[in-house]
Amino acid sequence: MAKFSGKAKEFMKEVVDHLRQLAKETDKVKRSEHFKRFLITMARFWKYSYHNQMLIMHQMPEATRVAGFRKWRQMGRHVLKGSKAIRILAPRFKKVMEIDDGGALVEKEEVVYFVPVPVFDQSQTEGVPLPDVTITVEGDSNRGILESLIAFCESKKIKVNFKNLRINGLYGYSKGGQIAVTSTESVNTQVNTLIHEIAHELLHKGSILSTQRKEIQAEGVAYVVGQHFGMVTKSFNYLAIYHANYKKIMENLKAIARASKEVIGWLEERIVVQEA
Ligand SMILES: [Zn+2]
Repeated sequence: MAKFSGKAKEFMKEVVDHLRQLAKETDKVKRSEHFKRFLITMARFWKYSYHNQMLIMHQMPEATRVAGFRKWRQMGRHVLKGSKAIRILAPRFKKVMEIDDGGALVEKEEVVYFVPVPVFDQSQTEGVPLPDVTITVEGDSNRGILESLIAFCESKKIKVNFKNLRINGLYGYSKGGQIAVTSTESVNTQVNTLIHEIAHELLHKGSILSTQRKEIQAEGVAYVVGQHFGMVTKSFNYLAIYHANYKKIMENLKAIARASKEVIGWLEERIVVQEA
């Protein structure tokens, strides 16, 4: 018993150290000029409807960031000659007169029809580089860990599917007993993503926490587990995008420690078995 509690204390210290590091890095990202520019650029990209996302994916499965001809110009890039446009549907409005609650006649806009409009993917443009804040990591060195994580999910009756999620700007998602992971990124990105989604599964079933807190907890676990096994992560970028900060990250220590312990415990057992 004494030995175990000593170990638990040691583990807690490790989690605290990692989280402090993560919290510091996140604050640093948020202070950088590069990150501020990134936020401004991202705000310029239109959020496409589900229907338009499907149209884009159908015409160009590898598309990432899509915008119209003029929008690209505004961002200092131009569409390459001979590029085949992706067609999406844009609403056209008509001005109508309506009587409001107070009885006054007011002018309103109403969608009357949709017209196909051409847009282009970032890969079809050149010019000023867009500020990028990456949350992916390169390399396929953690394949063994990926397999162990999939086995962990099996033991918990969680289904894992690998899918092309590019156009949604997603690398993974979880929805109670089901996890989807990107099929188009490196194995090491898949490992980070899978740990993140496992954390959602372990901690957030039926949870009423805010999205921000859930994301801090899930990415906190991805970071702690990643650090424990010496993996590279971009968790600080991810948490900066979610407007996390030092205080908000440290407030979630307990939940992060709980899920990290479970995942690390499982992986360590598996790795010992593999070495034997
Ligand atoms: Zn998440």
